Amino acid sequence: MQESQGHSIEEIGIRVPPPLAGNRALRDLVHRLAEGLRAEAVALARREIARAPEAKLETLLALMKVLVFGRADALAEELADGDTPVACGPGCTACCYQTVQATIPEAILIALRLGDPADPRRERVLDAAEAFQGMSPRERRRTGKPCPLLVDQRCSVHDDRPLACRAVLSANAEGCRASLLSVLAGRDELPNDYFLAAQYLIRGDGAALQGICRDLGLQHEAFDLVQMLAALIRDPGIIERWLAGERVFATVPSPKPPTKRNDHEQP
Ligand code: SF4
Repeated sequence: MQESQGHSIEEIGIRVPPPLAGNRALRDLVHRLAEGLRAEAVALARREIARAPEAKLETLLALMKVLVFGRADALAEELADGDTPVACGPGCTACCYQTVQATIPEAILIALRLGDPADPRRERVLDAAEAFQGMSPRERRRTGKPCPLLVDQRCSVHDDRPLACRAVLSANAEGCRASLLSVLAGRDELPNDYFLAAQYLIRGDGAALQGICRDLGLQHEAFDLVQMLAALIRDPGIIERWLAGERVFATVPSPKPPTKRNDHEQP
């Protein structure tokens, strides 16, 4: 048995509220899959890091992309072939106007793509971090300002976007836009058709990713993506300190964004 097996996702203080109250079977499935992912990734990471300690960051990011993001993408592809297809697609941006909660390696992966000092997205990230600082998810959404990584109505880091963005899978794009407009008009979110079981599975994998970091002795909490990116732009040395086991971000995680409600809950 791998050393990390037996850690539950709640044991590290991470709760993934199920979309269906009392759906024990779904909860157990999410936990089982997340724990298996955590064990497999930690075993692989330890082996690779022992072999090439200087490539620790590359190993972690590659495992995250292949094992964790790969599984979310496979799930989205499966849904796309289902009876109710996924409506999300290029140019559909209504979900890019809210707080994105991400793990530290997810933020580092994106920060590395913003490494060119001439990249205009750096300034946009810094401005957004200042504008959204201290806001609740509800206040941030009401600003009507998009994620600073949204460029020409496209996610400019689409292949490397965080799990939180991959998890918002909608069956009704028009419903997403109507809900955003309702919020911008000062009203509540509108119920819409989201694939909540898929969202739950992907959030479980996000918890597994936190568990992987913790098992490797790295700060593991999730934080507001924009605030982390701004910190990484201001001080790229954060990456080395995180890899050395330092707690590099504030200890109080940002509030969790609300879970989407809908009627496409599975299974
Ligand atoms: S990272 Fe990409 S998908 Fe996520 S909110 Fe920003 S622009 Fe949208």
